[in-house]
Amino acid sequence: MRLRNKPWAKDKIKQYPQYIIPTPEQYKGKWNELFGNTNPLHIEIGTGKGRFITEMAKANPHINYIGIELYESVIVSALDRLIEAELPNVKLLNVNAKDLKEYFAKGDVERIYLNFSDPWPKKRHAKRRLTYKSFLEIYEDILVDEGEIHFKTDNQGLFEYSLISFSEYGLLLKFISLDLHNSDFEGNIMTEYEEKFSSRGQRIYRCEVKYVKR
Ligand code: SAM
Repeated sequence: MRLRNKPWAKDKIKQYPQYIIPTPEQYKGKWNELFGNTNPLHIEIGTGKGRFITEMAKANPHINYIGIELYESVIVSALDRLIEAELPNVKLLNVNAKDLKEYFAKGDVERIYLNFSDPWPKKRHAKRRLTYKSFLEIYEDILVDEGEIHFKTDNQGLFEYSLISFSEYGLLLKFISLDLHNSDFEGNIMTEYEEKFSSRGQRIYRCEVKYVKR
């Protein structure tokens, strides 16, 4: 993601605490209080400019969504979408995925979406990949039993690495597509990166994996 310097981003984020939750640790174990219902919670890690999470929230009003994004300069674009859409079932957190256990308790999250995560192709950076073992441990600690990860990418190397990482961790492979846009998968919602890469003719890989009780 190319980062543009947006010195005003911090102030804008502060102006919309109803969309970008300023103290997410306060809702650990009780996100249903924030949403005012007991619907399942799905989160997207690395939400970028927010198209996926907003469109998913529109299409599925009985699911609550939270988009997690590290950079202020990026999350403000997702914020603009939320302001315009005025949806009750989607929020954003401006936090690092490595700290998710500070904000979510075991069982808070039913599903995690990883869309076009940064590939970190160099071997020495493998620990930064969002499908690295230490992240899979964090996800297990916030997901319900048998919670799922749904992962999409254009990057073949990251996809292959992730399938191995999921398998070594003991996750169950539920679904796999090596060419999502030429498959019979229905209801795909494209992310900003997905549109960009697929318009260049790049293939999109997708899988669904599930934690199993040990
Ligand atoms: N999901 C979006 C899409 O498909 O258009 C954005 C993809 S972009 C390549 C990856 C995003 O993940 C970036 O916005 C980046 O800032 C975010 N990201 C990377 N590492 C993260 C982390 N540890 N915690 C939260 N967000 C992260």
